[in-house]
Amino acid sequence: MYLKNSKTIVIKIGSSLLIDDKKTIRQKWLLEFTKDIKELLNNKKNLIIVSSGAIALGCKKLNLNKKNLKLDKSQAVASIGQIELMNLFKKTFNKKKINLSQILLTLEDTEQRRRAINAKRTFDNLFKLGFVPIVNENDSIATSEIKYGDNDRLASRVAQISSADCLILLSDVDGLYTKNPKIYKDAKLIKEIKNIDLNIEQFAKKSIGKHGTGGMKTKIDAARICQISGCVMAIANGLSERPIKIISQKNNCTWFLPKISKLDARKKWIISSIAPKGELIIDEGAINALKKGKSLLAAGIKQVKGKFNKGDHIKILDKNMTEHARGLSSFTSDEISKIKGQHSNKIFELLGYITKSEVIHKDDMVEI
Ligand code: GLU
Repeated sequence: MYLKNSKTIVIKIGSSLLIDDKKTIRQKWLLEFTKDIKELLNNKKNLIIVSSGAIALGCKKLNLNKKNLKLDKSQAVASIGQIELMNLFKKTFNKKKINLSQILLTLEDTEQRRRAINAKRTFDNLFKLGFVPIVNENDSIATSEIKYGDNDRLASRVAQISSADCLILLSDVDGLYTKNPKIYKDAKLIKEIKNIDLNIEQFAKKSIGKHGTGGMKTKIDAARICQISGCVMAIANGLSERPIKIISQKNNCTWFLPKISKLDARKKWIISSIAPKGELIIDEGAINALKKGKSLLAAGIKQVKGKFNKGDHIKILDKNMTEHARGLSSFTSDEISKIKGQHSNKIFELLGYITKSEVIHKDDMVEI
């Protein structure tokens, strides 16, 4: 039902679907998958595929073990593997006459508003041209501090900036279970999740996929981004052939339902930032002002954490480190260190130059 009602769909493919434990490429699976894609295109859907596998295919080509790779080497391996990955896609999708393009993103491409808007425009134009973009992180360029690191969160941010209606994370787990299904017979697959509460986080910790627990955490992070972006998201097992057809017919996966959001696209982008650069700890008076929709002033700021520039994403927390809002800072972290706790009319005296009077303007801030 969710798929049927969606116009723009993002499908994320994990490496384990493309290459098995013995490092054999799952050609037959990919060929069957093209049938799913063809069917969606015939139904006039806009599609984006986010595919992992550059590092896995690079390792295969060089006969290396992925586990022992250091970052700088993995960047070179990804550069070698990405072309293998696209070659595999192109060769296979050609058989069904599906047109493909490639987009490699770095974290800044979604975290900077101007670049995110650019990326959206490119997606829209590719849809109009009838091409399916295959997206991956630009692993050859990204370093550990400026990396998504996983394609689950990358896919959710792609879904958000492209205003997608639906994201499907295909991997080697069926979805989220109440317990580890390999140990407990009474473990149940959760079909629909409206709220990601503590219970859900506990289930995610206990749920073990083939590649350990880490995988579920990034999927839940991705679900959070989708929920506030008005995008429905599924965690589904993609190992069997025609996974999308199976989801439509059997609905054997976990769906995360979006929250109703009155936020405009810019505010959705602010709130779902993947990598806020810093934190401001503010006092109770400032929290109350935020709740009334007011801007954040220097007077209410107790502490600054992290190093950031003007325009960077930052988190706004209370003294117990509970997050209350996110916003774009009008000042650098160094400037805020000098003006925190002070009345706005002192800013000129403290900094020696004219600036804005709000540290975060209300239009650049979203309450959580
Ligand atoms: N971008 C990585 C690759 O193509 C994959 C990241 C992930 O597995 O989530 O190898």
